[in-house]
Amino acid sequence: MNADIRRQIFERLRASNPHPTTELEYSSPFELLTAVLLSAQATDVGVNKATRKLFPVANTPSAILALGQDGLESYINSIGLFRSKARHLLETCRLLLEQHDGEVPQTREALEALPGVGRKTANVILNTAFGQPTIAVDTHIFRVSNRIGLAPGKDVRAVEDKLLKVVPAEFKLDAHHWLILHGRYICKARKPDCNRCVIVDLCEYKAKSI
Ligand code: SF4
Repeated sequence: MNADIRRQIFERLRASNPHPTTELEYSSPFELLTAVLLSAQATDVGVNKATRKLFPVANTPSAILALGQDGLESYINSIGLFRSKARHLLETCRLLLEQHDGEVPQTREALEALPGVGRKTANVILNTAFGQPTIAVDTHIFRVSNRIGLAPGKDVRAVEDKLLKVVPAEFKLDAHHWLILHGRYICKARKPDCNRCVIVDLCEYKAKSI
């Protein structure tokens, strides 16, 4: 795929959704960090359902810590892996208070040092909470990037590196959300909805469903 096609892809995705953002509900970097920590192998809808009850009661590291393991679990037990997620979140809150004055740090190194925070989560926080042009590669972005020829790579890191190299600067901040939403709702895993796709003539996938 050449640079001109890639540019056209992002121009079309931007035209169809000029201000893309996460579907996780949050109103502060800490709320976003909490929601992302809870979202592994869970849907955004399921996470939002839990955080709508949790955040009005506890939306700071000290308030979450005050809930304790049992108290926190009672808010998030509808989400998969809730016990280990509660443990990670409590430990993260402890570290935020001890090392960062209760604030979410704005560097990759400090974020990845938090329990349960890997590269993908750090990229989401840096991008969505702090406006840095990172691209978090999840299962949707990995699939779409390979399937359509946008940024092929054998693993998520290879795809991330390729996207950072080939996505034009003006699209970098929002590329992550455009590609996730495209993969979630149009270029779906089992059967891509090619008839509704705004980049159908630009995509290199051989087995389009049209
Ligand atoms: S044409 Fe089909 S395979 Fe290609 S990007 Fe669109 S939905 Fe995905």
